[in-house]
Amino acid sequence: MSSETTVNSGREEGRKTAPGPILLLGAPGVGKGTQAKELIKVWGIPQISTGDLLRGNVAQGTELGKTAKEIMGRGDLVPDSLVNEMVAVRLTQPDTANGYILDGFPRTLVQAGWLDGRLAERVGGLPVVAVSIQVDYNQLLRRITGRRNCPVCQCIYNVYGKPPAKEGFCDVDGAALVQRADDTEKVFAERMRAYEALTAPVVEHYRAQGRFAEVDGDRPIAEIAAGIVTAVGRLRG
Ligand code: AMP
Repeated sequence: MSSETTVNSGREEGRKTAPGPILLLGAPGVGKGTQAKELIKVWGIPQISTGDLLRGNVAQGTELGKTAKEIMGRGDLVPDSLVNEMVAVRLTQPDTANGYILDGFPRTLVQAGWLDGRLAERVGGLPVVAVSIQVDYNQLLRRITGRRNCPVCQCIYNVYGKPPAKEGFCDVDGAALVQRADDTEKVFAERMRAYEALTAPVVEHYRAQGRFAEVDGDRPIAEIAAGIVTAVGRLRG
């Protein structure tokens, strides 16, 4: 069976049952955003990327955005209270009723504790399932420094692994691709330090809870997505 077939059959299956809250965990550049976009197609639930929400606030010049801009530029984490509040507001939106894919949250044990408490308050809601995507350091560095984003359709390219047909321009809408300010080698090193110190314990927190899977992220995108769909199906079953 090809990996594409596996994802499609997951799509049929997944739509029958609400997948509930899914957490995508992993170091910067493992492909959480790319996988979230694949999983939206499979399950029809929204992606909630705290990085995207924060960048939206920066672009709009909100108070949160003004605070977050410099912190993000350094590769550090935005304070828990601000991020939790932002996620709390997002989770009140009706499209989250059947589940959602949290991408980049929780990133600290404080955030994980806050989320666990919030989920425990819901009556009859499905428990969270956490999926950690694994990719080795050198591969991550290549992915981060090669990443280019389309500011219009949010498609993600990589100059090494997934270049656009015309260098520097989006295949879908022709917009000029941009590089995130924090996708440089220097900021990547800081983001990895923050990951090891603050986010790696979050992975262990969810591993200890049992509803946890680890998938190899150094494979074609559709294969990884199929692996996640299978793992979530098994954990929910
Ligand atoms: P990402 O797009 O997920 O790589 O996030 C980009 C940056 O946004 C991170 O390096 C942090 O500065 C900030 N950020 C995103 N999510 C969180 C979070 N859950 N907690 C704190 N900071 C975050």
